[in-house]
Amino acid sequence: MLNPTELPSSLPMVSHWIGGRPVPGGESRAGNIFNPTTGAIAARVPFASDEQVNAAVAAAREAYRGWAATPAPRRARVMFRFKELVENAADEVARLIAHEHGKTVSDAHGELARGLEVVEFACGIPHLLKGEFSENVGTGVDAYSMRQPLGVVAGITPFNFPAMVPMWMFPIAIASGNTFVLKPAERDPSTAVRLAELLKQAGLPDGVFNVIHGDKQAVDALLRHPDVAAVSFVGSTPVARHIYLEGTANGKRVQALGGAKNHLVVMPDADLEQATEALLGAAFGSAGERCMAISVAVAVGDEVADRLVAKLSPRIKALRIGASDDESTEMGPLVTREHLERVRGYIDTGVSEGAALVVDGRTVEVRGGHRGFFLGGTLFDRVRPDMRIYREEIFGPVLVVVRVPTEDAAIRLINSHAYANGTAVFTGSGDAARSFAAAIEVGMVGINIPIPVPMAFYSFGGWRSSLFGDHHIYGMEGVRFYTRMKCVTQRWPKSSTAEFTMPVMK
Ligand code: NAD
Repeated sequence: MLNPTELPSSLPMVSHWIGGRPVPGGESRAGNIFNPTTGAIAARVPFASDEQVNAAVAAAREAYRGWAATPAPRRARVMFRFKELVENAADEVARLIAHEHGKTVSDAHGELARGLEVVEFACGIPHLLKGEFSENVGTGVDAYSMRQPLGVVAGITPFNFPAMVPMWMFPIAIASGNTFVLKPAERDPSTAVRLAELLKQAGLPDGVFNVIHGDKQAVDALLRHPDVAAVSFVGSTPVARHIYLEGTANGKRVQALGGAKNHLVVMPDADLEQATEALLGAAFGSAGERCMAISVAVAVGDEVADRLVAKLSPRIKALRIGASDDESTEMGPLVTREHLERVRGYIDTGVSEGAALVVDGRTVEVRGGHRGFFLGGTLFDRVRPDMRIYREEIFGPVLVVVRVPTEDAAIRLINSHAYANGTAVFTGSGDAARSFAAAIEVGMVGINIPIPVPMAFYSFGGWRSSLFGDHHIYGMEGVRFYTRMKCVTQRWPKSSTAEFTMPVMK
């Protein structure tokens, strides 16, 4: 963080969004937002004080009763209008994402489209909230169940999908009748505020959706706040663990999705052309800053490994690296210089650990001569499971190849890794694919599909250190997470005889 006196006075400052309007934050605690293509500071983001967090939660709490009592079809209609407004503003929002994050504009359009799928799902909330009904469970007695909202819920989101990950959360939370406080990543916070404006335009009452910016202080204030009933978190594993432990210790319902190290297994009978193309997109799209990026290629047999590395390396060297708003760019910059240095550090580590560096991204030619946070695609071969570049999440454009002799060995390798978010197998054999899907201990599995992000009507989530909590995110798991069950047993007509034994239906 720079001293404010060193900064040009003309830098725009992003606002919080509380109670249906922008609320400026102070300069006393604030961070920089960069343009990763140029490396320049583009704007400033205020870090909320405890009072500002309290104000956002108070606004959400005040809005809760009225919103929860609004009939579900009317809540769904707001989502229909919001979907249309986001579609109309898609290009503007995609450029905003690309400008602060560094991903290409077309990739940002893809992220918005995936987020909108959850909005479409939330439009069906009247159906999704339907309970069960049993007539005449005893004489004159019926029983039914209903799902009701929790109250004020909070979302804490990572930098890598500034639109999609918040949209994994708030459409279902809000459509279910909750009110929401979002704490987006401080590195690319503007998209969250733009979405808040569009929600207001869609007719969402003030206070139902609020955005506060900030760092650990704001997050911890939310975790401690007695009026926050539940927390959805997506980010790195150490923070996810902290959120889960702290949130549940404070009596909140918590789903905390963490980091990843996703493996793609290439079987000897795979279409190698298809596997190569899949690996290129999945490892280097969005500069590897995706929780479902493939960062490990597991080659079954040395022959497959040799052929795969031979196919991958010229393609990685030829990646078109440039500005995020240049339509011909295949891979943009990383999000910040700090993150770039971290990823470069992992390449140095891989070399010192003795892995074979086949393509070195530390020297990179950037189209247009931009001087931002660029790194080239990097490929390591002959990586061993004990190496840090295998065990740890790098979250950059670095693909490592691990060689194994059999499919069983590939499965054992993947099942032994701390992370278990997504994985994929490329094969021509239905038998191999079936046994892989059955035996693999990972939350999301692709068969000849490299990034198996489930559609909105399924749910997203990993296993082991990739998720803390009992619920995956969005889909029916999302509806269950953001609601609680109530069961009603009713007798009509009334009975007036006292029963002193345990009531049994007659
Ligand atoms: P991060 O964990 O640094 O930050 C995520 C959020 O937590 C941000 O809003 C940040 O302000 C807040 N935060 C950071 N440090 C904190 C602390 N000490 N205490 C409380 N809050 C804190 O993650 P990131 O760098 O923004 O995003 C990248 C990470 O997110 C990667 O590890 C990636 O795998 C993961 N991710 C996971 C998924 C998934 O679905 N599993 C999806 C996207 C990203």
